[in-house]
Amino acid sequence: MALVLVLAGGVGIIQVAFIINTIQKACPGLTKYPAVRQALRFIQVSPIAVMVASAIWFFFLVFLPVKVEYPYSSKEGLLLIILACYLWLNVTFNYFAAMLKSPGYPSTALEIEENGLSLENDSILCFKCDRMKSCDTHHCGTCGTCVTMMCHHCPFTNNCVGLKNYSYFYLFICYSNIGLIFSLYMTYDPFYHCMVYNGEQLSLLPWYPPNICRKLGDFAVIFIPVAFMAMFAAAMFLLQTLLLATDLSTIDLLTKMQRSRNFMQFGRMLLDRIVGHRKRRFQVMLLYSRERWWQFLVPSFNVPSRHLETVKLMV
Ligand SMILES: [Zn+2]
Ligand SMILES: [Zn+2]
Repeated sequence: MALVLVLAGGVGIIQVAFIINTIQKACPGLTKYPAVRQALRFIQVSPIAVMVASAIWFFFLVFLPVKVEYPYSSKEGLLLIILACYLWLNVTFNYFAAMLKSPGYPSTALEIEENGLSLENDSILCFKCDRMKSCDTHHCGTCGTCVTMMCHHCPFTNNCVGLKNYSYFYLFICYSNIGLIFSLYMTYDPFYHCMVYNGEQLSLLPWYPPNICRKLGDFAVIFIPVAFMAMFAAAMFLLQTLLLATDLSTIDLLTKMQRSRNFMQFGRMLLDRIVGHRKRRFQVMLLYSRERWWQFLVPSFNVPSRHLETVKLMV
């Protein structure tokens, strides 16, 4: 039963997000209504929100009592509890911040006029949403608006990833990776001893009595979906780190991939950008998004005014 639930949950997260994203793209008229947009958003993010919430339940009620004999009175147990809560807090905070925080939108012609400013002669406006265009601005078909320094539209947060919420998105991926490595550490022993070893060998392991396997039941197999999720999260981390190192957005990377004649040319272009290109996106979207270095280690909000100043200096 547990296996079915976990697999259904894992498949659901990947599929629901992509199916709804495709529906939104195929029927742009649907997303004009705020109620429909809100409903789709809720359906799209609920599986991953449930999963983040259930991680702590699995930890306290299923795997911690198996890993440590006296979880609430031994040093090892308390250390694992602190680590699990710390990682869970950072993953949850950054996920919801990436989902709820605005990615940053360029001003519309009307907003510029209302602020008593006038459009410069060489200003370009987006013909779909009437917002100011710059080289980093992209129009998101799903959200129906231009986004400042847009990276991509994320189906797992149902929000664009841009200047003002990129740091949360990247930190969410980083903490998810650490959290999944921690989950692998917690779930590997039950999987190995209850699923891989046979009963005879089990009796040779005094620290792992067979009654634990009976108590765990199907939960022992959770290591497998966790391993798949860890691989997916690692691929996301490598992709985003490559994008920061090459100073490209996901949209730019895909465009350059399509325009490259072959894989070698594409690889050379990436290498040239890693070695010789200024890391503007990394600096603006991540490095300068917090006042102090330790604010990356705890849940904390970015600094919008500093963002804007940095963008003005660097554009
Ligand atoms: Zn636009
Ligand atoms: Zn979008």
